[in-house]
Order: sequence, then structure tokens, then C-alpha cells
Amino acid sequence: MDSSDQISKLFGLDFASQAKEKAYLQRKAEGKGCFSCHYTGYITNSNSTTSMCSCAKEKWLSEIFKKSNVPNKYIGKTLEDWETRTNSSGEDLGIHEITSQNIKRLLKFYEKNLFFIVQGLCPKIKHNINQRDTLHSLKFTGSNGSGKTFIASVMVQHAIRKQLTAKYYDWSEILETLIDYNRKEEVTELVDEFKNLDFIAIDGLQNFSITQSHVTIQLDRLGKARSNSGKPIFLMVSGDISKIEGGTGWSSLVSSCLTIQLPHAIK
Ligand SMILES: [Zn+2]
Repeated sequence: MDSSDQISKLFGLDFASQAKEKAYLQRKAEGKGCFSCHYTGYITNSNSTTSMCSCAKEKWLSEIFKKSNVPNKYIGKTLEDWETRTNSSGEDLGIHEITSQNIKRLLKFYEKNLFFIVQGLCPKIKHNINQRDTLHSLKFTGSNGSGKTFIASVMVQHAIRKQLTAKYYDWSEILETLIDYNRKEEVTELVDEFKNLDFIAIDGLQNFSITQSHVTIQLDRLGKARSNSGKPIFLMVSGDISKIEGGTGWSSLVSSCLTIQLPHAIK
């Protein structure tokens, strides 16, 4: 027995528990886990199996949200965070509050059915008194601050929470990739994602009057890839997109979406 061992015996401590304590404090300082999982991120169950603690699960999910391109500002947000009385700048929606509530209700219904919609089992919805439509892909129109980015972000995150594959896309970034001749591999990747991901949303759709014909061809490819996958898409539209040249592949994807007009603030 060396002298330090004797000292720790003297104070009623042994090295094992000291080391344990030190490791505990270090994990805590590093911000790993929470109190209930002793800052390990894992919980040992009564039958001696381990599972991920909810704190670690949230952390792990938010990493996936980031990788799925969800804008930082909206990471961790859900539909419950949607304020139906005001727009994103806090301006009162007035009489449009009812429209806002209806859209929130529709989105909740969409969330509940997303798993089935992805498999092509689409529920019918009734709107505009007697019009019945199949709920599959949606196109949202509305001015800045009407909640388009929010809706796209929470839906992508909801899909991921339901163990579906999903991604958020920014329209100008898509175009940038399509325009660049040196990014052919990325274009192929994009087409693959449009073919395979369970849920995707494109934000900031607008017409930039692009004249390069190869962009038209690639948009046609993307549109076809998504339509043929049978899986849903959300398009968040700002402005007139009827003049976007993307061949029949693109235009039929756009026209397959049910249009939803988001309310705007009364000024
Ligand atoms: Zn924890």
C-alpha cells in the first residue's frame, strides 16, 4: 500500500469512487447528457438493458435536422409553436386569424397522416364547401412573414421524428447547383434525393428568369423524379412561378400540388 492509498483510506475515500466522481464532473462540464442519465446520455433500465436518454435523443435529432438543411432558427420547433393570431413580425392577422387556424388544423391532419401519404394512402379532404381533394402534395403561397419557412421546417422535422427521411431545400441553392456545369455529381445526388426521400420541401420558390436551357432540362428531371416517386412535396411559393421553365416534368409536379393561400397581416 503506497502513501496516497493510505491517505485516501484515512479520509474514507477509495480511488475508484474518486475516479467515478471526477468522470461524472467532467461529463457534466462537457455538457453531455442530463441529471437523470448521470450525464452519460444513456439510461440503464430495470432489466439491465441500456437505452438513449431523452436528452441525448433530442441532441441526436437536432443534428439530423441540421443535416437535413432545416434553418437554424427553426430547429426544435413544432406546429405547436405556430402563433395563429399574428404573422412572424407580430402583426395582428385580424379577420384572417380564422384562415390561419384552419391551415394549422389542416397541417395537424397532414402530420397525422404523413406516414400513410408517403405510402400513397392519401386521405380525402373537403374544402371550399363541396370540393373534395386528395391530400398529397401542397403548394403554399403568401407574402414574407406568412410562415412559409416555418411550415416547411416543422414538417421536415416532424417527418424525421416519425423515422421518415426528409430534407429542406432552398430554391436559390437548388438553382445554383443546376446552373453550375462543374456540379454535375451534386445534381445527380439531388435527383436521387427527389426520387427517394419520403418528404421534401422547397422554400423560396420564385421566378429568376433563367435562360440556360440545361437548367430547364435538370428541373424537368427533378420534377419527374419526384412525381414518379409517388411521395409528397411541399412547395413554398413567393411570387409568380408559372413562368419557371422546367419542362413538363416540372410543371406537372407543380400542378399536382393543392394550393393553400396563407393569410397576411392587416396593416
Ligand atoms: Zn439525459
